[in-house]
Amino acid sequence: MKLDDPNLKRVEPPKLTLFEKTYLPQILGGLAVTGRHILGAAVGGKAITVQYPEEQHVPSANYRGVHRLNKDEQGRVKCVACMLCATACPAHCIDIVGATAPPEWDDREKYPESFVIDELRCIYCGMCEEACPVDAIELTGLYDLTGLSREEMIYDKTKLLSVFDMTKDAEPMQSGNPPATLALPTSPLEPGGPGPRSSSSADMPSRS
Ligand code: SF4
Ligand code: SF4
Repeated sequence: MKLDDPNLKRVEPPKLTLFEKTYLPQILGGLAVTGRHILGAAVGGKAITVQYPEEQHVPSANYRGVHRLNKDEQGRVKCVACMLCATACPAHCIDIVGATAPPEWDDREKYPESFVIDELRCIYCGMCEEACPVDAIELTGLYDLTGLSREEMIYDKTKLLSVFDMTKDAEPMQSGNPPATLALPTSPLEPGGPGPRSSSSADMPSRS
């Protein structure tokens, strides 16, 4: 956009009064929020913490946690290896190797032979989800992400598809889940290959 573009809207910074320049209104506003929470816990009995892991925190609907790779109606990975998510990713933590789709996959030219996300480099901004033209990648409500090594936190395609299986009922796809009878783990995810191998519980983020 050029500087003389008529659609350019200039926003002037608001002029602060002398009182506002002391930052007292902002400080008092912050203290009021803290006080409200303290009173809510002390008087109203409204807990602000949970006894994790015995109690599980339920994140808000728009929480951005561990990624999943969605499957289509035939149980295939939805991704068409367009690379838009990897291009949009500000943390450069998505690595995709695309391959020519098999002839029987007549709805696409390519599929991801390999799809890897480094969950430790990710800043959970959601740009990949925004960029995807086919709703193939989504961030889930999984937050209890643990591992004993850096390698465990690098999620490959199998693991990302397993997150889909784990979360698809609780968190339907934005574009609608495939019918349960068709989203079978035995469906081919690779051209001519077997269904997804099951990941061990040590490989997976826990969720109860
Ligand atoms: S959430 Fe953001 S940082 Fe993480 S993989 Fe997606 S685009 Fe990259
Ligand atoms: S997940 Fe979506 S944006 Fe990323 S390569 Fe696959 S189709 Fe493209």
